[in-house]
Amino acid sequence: MDCIFCKIANKEIKSEIIFEDDEIMIFKDVNPVAPLHLLAIPKKHVESILEIDKLEDDLTVKILKAISDIAKEMNMDKEGFRVVTNTGEGAGQSVKHLHFHILGGRKFNWPPG
Ligand code: AMP
Ligand code: ZN
Repeated sequence: MDCIFCKIANKEIKSEIIFEDDEIMIFKDVNPVAPLHLLAIPKKHVESILEIDKLEDDLTVKILKAISDIAKEMNMDKEGFRVVTNTGEGAGQSVKHLHFHILGGRKFNWPPG
């Protein structure tokens, strides 16, 4: 399958990996929109959060825990940070492999643009 995040997960494409285990990868976004901008993915290909049922329940929990751990390790918890999963055209999803943006290091407005 021609999916850029599958290729990152299986190391066909290089990325700056922050955390990895058998099922999960967290790597730096190549085009950061905040001083800290990471992407957390399941290595298994699912298109978006709409297909979360295709992942084992414990993997979904593991991804959220990994996000929490990394945010603390990188001291994002002090000032606040944002976790975003753009879903579909209207939300600007450009890569159709489920990913959670982890954004930190600056102030974030609400509502988002
Ligand atoms: P989205 O637009 O929400 O689907 O997010 C996709 C994100 O993937 C964007 O922020 C891109 O900058 C990022 N991205 C695309 N290609 C790569 C890559 N090869 N390595 C790291 N991040 C990437
Ligand atoms: Zn994929």
